[in-house]
Amino acid sequence: MTTVTIAASSGAAVTAAAPGSRVDRLVTFAVAPDGTEQSFPLIVIRGSHEGPTMVFTAGIHGDEFEGPAALWRLAEALDPSQLRGTLLLVPIANASAFAAGMRTSPVDNENLARIFPGNAEGTLSHRLADALMRTVVEKADILIDSHSGGVRLAFVPVAGFYEGGDVSAAVTARSLQIAKQMGIEYLWQLPPVNGVLSYEAARRGIAVCGAEIGGRGNCLPEDAENYLGAYLSVLAHQGMIDPAHKRAETTACLEGDWQTTPDAGYLETVVSLGSRVGKGETVAVLHDALGQTIREFPAGFDGRVMAVRHLNSVQSGDLAICVVKETIR
Ligand SMILES: [Zn+2]
Repeated sequence: MTTVTIAASSGAAVTAAAPGSRVDRLVTFAVAPDGTEQSFPLIVIRGSHEGPTMVFTAGIHGDEFEGPAALWRLAEALDPSQLRGTLLLVPIANASAFAAGMRTSPVDNENLARIFPGNAEGTLSHRLADALMRTVVEKADILIDSHSGGVRLAFVPVAGFYEGGDVSAAVTARSLQIAKQMGIEYLWQLPPVNGVLSYEAARRGIAVCGAEIGGRGNCLPEDAENYLGAYLSVLAHQGMIDPAHKRAETTACLEGDWQTTPDAGYLETVVSLGSRVGKGETVAVLHDALGQTIREFPAGFDGRVMAVRHLNSVQSGDLAICVVKETIR
């Protein structure tokens, strides 16, 4: 497979491909402070038959590897001659953060997941956000943005959707449908946060799913496999590939957000990821450097452990544990 370098300013040529073909591109969008040209990778797979455009992004955070691994495998697995519609895959959106193995870019310390739709006149990360949004994401009928817990956290598999806020009822309904069609363990009603790619896309009328699977700074084969199966399932439900890839739609839904720690220290999680916990049950304990208990974190309600801290060292204000309520959608 030949890789072609193209400037993000090249307009429609960035995402163009002949019917029934795959094209691999590096899309340049800025020059780094050291003078090197910066790019993001883009795989365009155009089916032989007309259909919707689905955009898949991963690696928005540079320490999350399940999404990239699954997208590479998706590109290998698909036969463009059997595809209806077009796929735009960005497996490692944030190259500078990936190179450093960090959540944020070491060039300007920005969190790419807080600065969409970006700014063409801004620092490297802002220019990247602008280029991704204008050249790729705005082409989407459907966007699936894959994340994980990265180095610091670990998640149960959740397919996130938005409801309310600036997101229209029609987009909410479509997004919930896409999240269900992923067929992973849980749905997650995402907290609306300005600057997050999936939220900004949803506000612009695109059906989105923002997903989390795994973390711990690595990529378990079963987690990449789960993402791959979820992508194929949505494509099948949308009529873009063989319906045999459909998974049963998810109905179990999680609602809630993280508890943060007010103090620094060593955070010990005392419940298992994915387990059920009761109101008032201790779910995590913070220790000082002598091993003494600084504080205990109780569950605020009966719920499920959706995500845990993996990196035991915490600063004041860091994410500590995520216990959420369970519903059915
Ligand atoms: Zn992430």
